[in-house]
Amino acid sequence: MAPQNDGQAITQSTEHSPEYYQQMKKSLNVLELTQRVYRKGSENMLSLVRRFWYQYCQFTEKDPVATLKNISINVLYAFFDWLLRERKNSLGATSSLQTYWNALCLVRQRLADAHSLRKDKKKKPVLHAEDEFELLKTLYTSTETIYPHERYRVQLALIMQLAGITGNRPSALLAVCYQHIKVTLLPDPDNREQPRVLIEIVFQHTKGYLGEKDANEFGIPDVPNEPCLLLCPHITMLALLFSDQAFAAPSLTSPERLFRLRIPPGQKQLLVPLKEEMAERPLFRRCKNTVKSIQISDEQALADSTLRPQMTNLGSITGMELPTGPYTFRRGNGQALDNSNEITDAQRNIILQHHNSSVFQNNYASRYMPDTQAAYRGLKPQTALMRAASGMSRTIDSRRPRKLSLAQQAEVDRYPDVRLLRRRLKSLLQTFQDQKRSITSAKGTPLYHHYRQAYRAHRSLRRRHEKALLTKVKERYKKEQPVIDIQRQLKGLPMAEQEALQTAEYVFEERVHAIDALFTFATSSTEEECQRRTTAINALIALCEKQENQGFRRSRADIKFKEKQASVSLPRKLSETLPIECKATQCIFCLGNEDLSAADRLKTFASRGDLKKHFHRKHLRHHPDGQPIACPHPRCDVILNGGMHLQNHAEVMHKTRT
Ligand SMILES: [Zn+2]
Ligand SMILES: [Zn+2]
Repeated sequence: MAPQNDGQAITQSTEHSPEYYQQMKKSLNVLELTQRVYRKGSENMLSLVRRFWYQYCQFTEKDPVATLKNISINVLYAFFDWLLRERKNSLGATSSLQTYWNALCLVRQRLADAHSLRKDKKKKPVLHAEDEFELLKTLYTSTETIYPHERYRVQLALIMQLAGITGNRPSALLAVCYQHIKVTLLPDPDNREQPRVLIEIVFQHTKGYLGEKDANEFGIPDVPNEPCLLLCPHITMLALLFSDQAFAAPSLTSPERLFRLRIPPGQKQLLVPLKEEMAERPLFRRCKNTVKSIQISDEQALADSTLRPQMTNLGSITGMELPTGPYTFRRGNGQALDNSNEITDAQRNIILQHHNSSVFQNNYASRYMPDTQAAYRGLKPQTALMRAASGMSRTIDSRRPRKLSLAQQAEVDRYPDVRLLRRRLKSLLQTFQDQKRSITSAKGTPLYHHYRQAYRAHRSLRRRHEKALLTKVKERYKKEQPVIDIQRQLKGLPMAEQEALQTAEYVFEERVHAIDALFTFATSSTEEECQRRTTAINALIALCEKQENQGFRRSRADIKFKEKQASVSLPRKLSETLPIECKATQCIFCLGNEDLSAADRLKTFASRGDLKKHFHRKHLRHHPDGQPIACPHPRCDVILNGGMHLQNHAEVMHKTRT
């Protein structure tokens, strides 16, 4: 990743000998850094490293302050890799590298001071199984959880379940491929006829101690008379496996058939192998846009950068105060293991891949203490109450502000520094107008460069202020709302009602079925239990095939209306009954997409412009130029010579104007 263009600036600054930096290193003992900063040599070194850092960030288009604030190992590695390449003439000794490192630490320290960054330790919330239940409930029932493809919903459920059960880091969870999964039937220890299903997963750890790769294997047995299907990883895992048609036996195509299998006489297990050709396929995969629809990629794993915001967002919609992420599950797992009488400290360290207990103690152990009163006074510990007290569900409050109001956003726009940057941006836009040219046509010119810089500066400043304001608003809510609530109660006013979670009343059929199937009570007979699981797995398989409407948030009224319309007037086979001539603002790609709900297929756009935007952004953009394309209308089998021809054809034949 050696930079091509910025190299110049760096070489110019190479004016000191290695001895100089050797000397510098002595003056920069990491323990005494802060006292010695003011020595002249160190100052030079600091400004040198600071300059490198800014150059590096400019080269990689990163915000220098923000990146330094949350610096990751990857970034550090990349920065030093870059620096070493750039300065290979002067930087030959490990000790000089150490000097740079020390200096970078100081630069970071000073930046933190200069930008008055928060120095107190970040709160480290712990997520218990009860809290996971709340998140999963939101995931399936809230209308605010929208994903480009419904498989994301099922994937996210399984990731959270596995994160809780195994405590793995997100990188290990996302690295699971089919070759790491084993499904086996074992005899029931209580001698019931129905064999038990065991799912085994091997997790690879890239962050092994001293760089080596370790792998832990987890066996997850089914739970007899499962009290909560929502928390059961078997339902979600099997749904993903069946949805991918992953089993090697060609006739094993449904959960009914899996539960009908028996262990052959004389055997102690029945392996249920997965297709060998799918060994490398990741279990959790990302979406890709194709000209016809959004599809799940066959080979690309879900990215960490997609997973984290999905989790945080889920916690925020649930109404939890602190952000939920993969590490809240990991800490929850660590605490559960630590409290368990069945699991030793050594096992806990292996599970969490810690090389000794101090890592857990320093970084993972909850600072919320157990019932020490009970211990001291010789009482029975109030475990359930203390568990609730240390978890995340207790903070659930659907009224908690999650976004800035329009008025608050406008307030940010009135901040003097934001106004200043906006004025600069506007004057640059004026220059474009004066020169009678569009912004895109100016690409590559200095003016365009200035414009992009001003645009980014304005946007990032605004975002920073918005974030700070939202934090303030939340803090105020936290302080003031309880007082208001108490006052209301004491004055005899009715208690403020929690705004009920917007439930799936208006979402499509498949999600309603999934909710119905997951929220069921345990049964007493084995057959009923198999039936219950089968129904739930089938409901999730159906969900995995489904695609949410393409990026258009819909209002509740809109959905209600559309679903009503759809359920009243639509016969079973929509594709066969569609007229050749569509409405002028319908999309022929969506009409032809059988993975969408009827309402989404028949959607009419508000204007021709809206349809045009959708048609190009969501579909045509993903079609390779000049390649033939089949008309997506379900009752038309014309092949066209390319995108342009398709547009003509759609207008003439199907009367939609794109
Ligand atoms: Zn469309
Ligand atoms: Zn056609």
